[in-house]
Amino acid sequence: MTFVADGMLGNAAKWLRLAGYDALYFNTRRKSELVRIARRDGRILLTRDRKLFEENEGIAVFIESEGTSRQLREIKNKLLLEINPMMFFTRCSLCNSPLERKEKYDITALVPEYVYANRDKFSQCPECRRVYWDGDHCKAIRDALNELGEG
Ligand SMILES: [Zn+2]
Repeated sequence: MTFVADGMLGNAAKWLRLAGYDALYFNTRRKSELVRIARRDGRILLTRDRKLFEENEGIAVFIESEGTSRQLREIKNKLLLEINPMMFFTRCSLCNSPLERKEKYDITALVPEYVYANRDKFSQCPECRRVYWDGDHCKAIRDALNELGEG
């Protein structure tokens, strides 16, 4: 299940990436571009635009909730989205690319010293080169995703 979201669902798309889903989003007024990408890639179009939804009912899902966590819950419920901890943190939250596992020596110069000294598992985005590690901030994200999975 892959997604393209309109600009009003940018935060929700980011969270879908954190959960491991392929989720593009574009802040564009050219809604036809979103439809074109959805059709081209077989993506589900997530939109808060009722008119856009009605014109594209076969491929679009209308999200009516306000606020990121409610929107995620709505996406999960409408699409029976699986929330699988094995998929968490496998995709770049900035650019949507699948992350690559990295050995510690690969990223020596790329992370702060204290992180390097205290962490062993790293991954990197092949597109934007951002390095990820299982830091303290991940726990809050993991908890929120698990809660979404249970609710
Ligand atoms: Zn990236």
